[in-house]
Amino acid sequence: MSISDALLDRIIDRAHHSKEDIVRLLSPTDAYDEGMLFKRAYEIKKRYVGNAVYLRGLIETGNICEKDCYYCGVRKGNRLVNRYLMSKEEILSSAKLAWKFGYGSLTLQSGEMTGKGHALFIEEVIREIKDLSGSELGITLSFGEQKEDVYRRWFKAGAHRYLLRIETSDRDLYGTLHPHDHSFEQRLECLHVLKEIGYQVGTGVMIGLPGQTVEHLADDIIFFRDIDADMIGMGPYIPHRDTPLAKAIDDIEEVMSFNMNLALRMIAATRIVLRDVNIASTTALQAVDSISGLVRGLTSGANVIMPNMTGNEHKGDYRLYENKPLEDENSAEYMGRLESRIRLIGEYIGYNQWGDSPHFKGKSTDVSTG
Ligand code: SAH
Ligand code: SF4
Repeated sequence: MSISDALLDRIIDRAHHSKEDIVRLLSPTDAYDEGMLFKRAYEIKKRYVGNAVYLRGLIETGNICEKDCYYCGVRKGNRLVNRYLMSKEEILSSAKLAWKFGYGSLTLQSGEMTGKGHALFIEEVIREIKDLSGSELGITLSFGEQKEDVYRRWFKAGAHRYLLRIETSDRDLYGTLHPHDHSFEQRLECLHVLKEIGYQVGTGVMIGLPGQTVEHLADDIIFFRDIDADMIGMGPYIPHRDTPLAKAIDDIEEVMSFNMNLALRMIAATRIVLRDVNIASTTALQAVDSISGLVRGLTSGANVIMPNMTGNEHKGDYRLYENKPLEDENSAEYMGRLESRIRLIGEYIGYNQWGDSPHFKGKSTDVSTG
């Protein structure tokens, strides 16, 4: 069945979307339907979050990981990875550059490390980033599952957002993507704890995973709504040759381009259902279609971009999937190109702002937006 314009509008206007509505949104049958889905999602984005694109300078602080997720290139079982941990000086120098560029916010991300020494190191890094920027730089963390007291210490030190993707909201599918000791329940519990502490909480899924259906994806969007997420980070699943999940995949390019389209539909449907949250146009979209991939994310409903500030020395070793973009994103030339593409679609970069989601601001009365 084709989603006619009238039917699409009827679904969009509903105050509450059923699973069936969301499955319909995710299943346009031709290019026209799909174009309408993106167009409507884009209109909703402009209405609820405006046409500023907010930047989060992404620093991949280390690729050492205690976990063994079957899809991820830096899983601990992959012996071909050259492991690194950025020094404090390296992280601070990337942070300074992001501040100088007017990015407003940083995202610090790494493999999962739960040692006390690492927790302390990150706590110091957060404090020093706050100091060097006169508290102007916002800090998002993405360090996986940690103990509650670690989350609390990092929050107290000045981090205010946390990204922890649920990866898939389906417990059975989750079980096929992870070893037995990787617990879905624990990940869910972490999301609740982060919320309770006061972080703006982001979650998300990979799109196009083996065994994942459109029904699963519709349930994922309902999951985002139910846990009242402030931010969503999602992207296409991109196989990594040296991982168990990629073993059964013959044509990686084909999977990537199929998953790209599905990811854009997922961004559009999420914007239509959740409306006022921040949605990232993620690096995985860029891995499939370079800057155009990011722009397609924006025109499907995303409003946040995370330029990579890791620095050329380590960037190539933080390879979660094939095709990771490796061009120098710290250059004025790259930013110029990105900015002109953003202007071409009638949007602008929200420099020197945290760019919190209206969804979070609506819940909170005393959050500085820097
Ligand atoms: N270790 C932390 C943060 C780093 S991993 C954590 O797992 O939360 C960040 C995200 O990369 C993961 O949440 C996952 O969704 C994504 N990722 C990992 N492997 C991927 C792949 N092959 N394709 C697409 N995304 C992938
Ligand atoms: Fe580690 Fe995160 Fe990759 Fe899982 S997804 S192996 S936790 S870096």
